Amino acid sequence: QPQDTPLQVVILGAGVIGLSTAHVLSTRYPSYKITVVARDLPDEAGLLSQAWASPWAGADWSPIGDYDERRYKMELKTFNTLWDMLPTGLVRTLDSRICFAEPVDVGKLWYKDLPRDFRVLKTEELPAGLAAGVSFTTVSLNPQIYLPWLYHGLRARGVHFVRRKFESIAEAAEYFNGNGKGVVVNATALGARTLIGVEDQDVFPIRGQTILASVPNMHQFLSYPLGAGPCAITLSIGIWEIPTGHATYMIPRPSPEGHVLIGGTFQVGNWDLSVNHDTGKGIWQRASEIEPALKDERTRIISHNVGLRPARKGGPRIEAEWFKLPLQTDLLTKPRGSQTPQDLLVVHAYGFGAAGYQGSWGAAEEVVDILQASVQPNA
Ligand code: FAD
Repeated sequence: QPQDTPLQVVILGAGVIGLSTAHVLSTRYPSYKITVVARDLPDEAGLLSQAWASPWAGADWSPIGDYDERRYKMELKTFNTLWDMLPTGLVRTLDSRICFAEPVDVGKLWYKDLPRDFRVLKTEELPAGLAAGVSFTTVSLNPQIYLPWLYHGLRARGVHFVRRKFESIAEAAEYFNGNGKGVVVNATALGARTLIGVEDQDVFPIRGQTILASVPNMHQFLSYPLGAGPCAITLSIGIWEIPTGHATYMIPRPSPEGHVLIGGTFQVGNWDLSVNHDTGKGIWQRASEIEPALKDERTRIISHNVGLRPARKGGPRIEAEWFKLPLQTDLLTKPRGSQTPQDLLVVHAYGFGAAGYQGSWGAAEEVVDILQASVQPNA
């Protein structure tokens, strides 16, 4: 890349991963020409679309699955960044408790140094029938406020947005002027399953049905496995091990109206976007048994929702890949002008499942590191 030509970057996807990547990239390299291309953008219409995951998340940090070094680093970075954002009001703190039916060495839990104020619960603090427990302070954010904040901030600093659906990853090359050199970040989540050239069959949805409610005076993050009593989350729920079934959780958000996201389901491989009436009733019933505030007469249900968590067998894919253009499979797409043979560098960033928000800032740093190392290998 000659010194005087700014690098052109096309970020495909405007979910929390694409937007966070655009934020880190434009902060570190203000001269880069960044275009975000996405079928769904975080504007008024986009925030109501079920075609992408980000508007439908909790979204908080909670421990999912067993220790994984890469994920730990990603989530630690993200947690600390979100913690630093507390003064903005975009993020809030939540008391959180996790209890265990069987004895565990809670002091050795992999996440004990990740959130704040981690402590082991005293025996008298444990709900009846449970063997051990911990409490800590976590963070949550409101996707309906957070995504537009990222979007408008990026536009203000010159990042260009285009609403468009790609059939093929090769279409990104249309956005590179001059000699056609540039880099693509593929943050298409579930879209990576069908995007020509990528077609990753390890990508699958985990359906989440939830209820958004306005609940007065609720400040705790609560999570329970079905039928296991209060203050418990099953450690076997892990995006990396593919969670199944139902879990009852309530995530209060930063919102003046006391919004709480109440869940929910973890239905692996289920693409159904319609709200199931019986599932909704079950979610509300289980949550009301646990949280008395839901029975307060001021409590209001705002909406029943379904979102698809964009998961991937083996965890997220964050790596560079070179494509030779034109792709063999481009015959399947409409020809868009003449194509001259060239290489296309793509940094993939998809497959974050149930943890896209809680890994977002760390993932974005990793994507930008890989991107930079790929364009300037000797720097
Ligand atoms: P998405 O938000 O799906 O964005 C994908 C983007 O790619 C969109 O802009 C889309 O339009 C675009 N795209 C796809 N294909 C194409 C194409 N062919 N052409 C053009 N554009 C394309 N995470 C947490 O960390 N904490 C939580 O508490 C939490 N709770 C959740 C609760 C529920 C009910 C659900 C559903 C999810 C939850 N998540 C949570 C998960 C989180 O929402 C996701 O991990 C995250 O939103 C994934 O972001 P993403 O940017 O990878 O994908």
